[in-house]
Amino acid sequence: MRITVDRERCMSAGQCVMTAPDIFTEDEDGLSMVEPGREDDGADPLVREAVFACPVQAISVADDERGVREPHDIRGTRDGR
Ligand code: SF4
Repeated sequence: MRITVDRERCMSAGQCVMTAPDIFTEDEDGLSMVEPGREDDGADPLVREAVFACPVQAISVADDERGVREPHDIRGTRDGR
């Protein structure tokens, strides 16, 4: 599952980096980005935690079968399906 961060929406709150430090990092401006090589690790449970933690719903995941799943889509179901 592909992870994307909407950097226009990100407000540098840092919760994603604290929640999943192996997945997310911050650039020199403090904006979140996915660690290179981890873009397809959206199934990692910590990514879901980061989606919940982000105060501005800037993190999305997508899979090939269902397309982009917006944060409210992920938040709305317990198992994320
Ligand atoms: S938690 Fe959201 S707002 Fe904060 S750094 Fe991560 S993506 Fe940006």
